Amino acid sequence: MASLFLCTDQPHDLAITFLNSQNIRGTMKIALFGPPGAGKGTQARYIVEKFNIPQISTGDLLRAQVRAGTDLGKTAREYMDKGALVPDGIVIGMLEERIKEDDCKDGFILDGFPRSISQAEALKDIVTLDEVVNIVVDESALVRRITGRRMCKCGATFHIDLNPPKKEGTCDQCGGSLYQRDDDREETVLNRLKVYRSQTQPLVELYKGVGILKDFDGNRSIDEISSDILSYLSK
Ligand SMILES: [Zn+2]
Repeated sequence: MASLFLCTDQPHDLAITFLNSQNIRGTMKIALFGPPGAGKGTQARYIVEKFNIPQISTGDLLRAQVRAGTDLGKTAREYMDKGALVPDGIVIGMLEERIKEDDCKDGFILDGFPRSISQAEALKDIVTLDEVVNIVVDESALVRRITGRRMCKCGATFHIDLNPPKKEGTCDQCGGSLYQRDDDREETVLNRLKVYRSQTQPLVELYKGVGILKDFDGNRSIDEISSDILSYLSK
């Protein structure tokens, strides 16, 4: 509803009413779910380009407010300095401000939010989501894909099976030694997946119940997944 509050000029209101009455999408307020490593960021970029709506990451919002030294940012900073989680109320406050901005009038795509039932409930009080895009992947394939990644200091990336360097452990581009990011180690990946599953499963049930969540098979090429998602959202 936040976008409607901004549209005080009569013609725009009428246009929206008309669009809705034609059952054509008036706004596109989307949340994107998918485990770490499922290519969520890439899919979000496609959606942003196709529908010209901004991607909103609560992590980015938080960092921006802290940098700008706003009141919300200062409060958030106190929690972050203590190594504590920033309370939902602060995150929701930032989100509420953000979605009032003009570029959100046709919708937005939320990345990394909500992550809990209480966040979903708080979100419901400031905006009604239109769609939840849920990318579902086979976890063992995902683990293989992530744990096989190798990086070089020069920025080149490889994969031991999918995109191996010519010489094992050595960068094709600069001859440097390849390494595995800590985030890509099996134990870390399994743990992040476990956390994701336990956080997301209740939300998946919640939004399925509301009838706005749609599963997308993430065990396909990036192009196949995105054309599926974009055509669904275009309907
Ligand atoms: Zn290199």
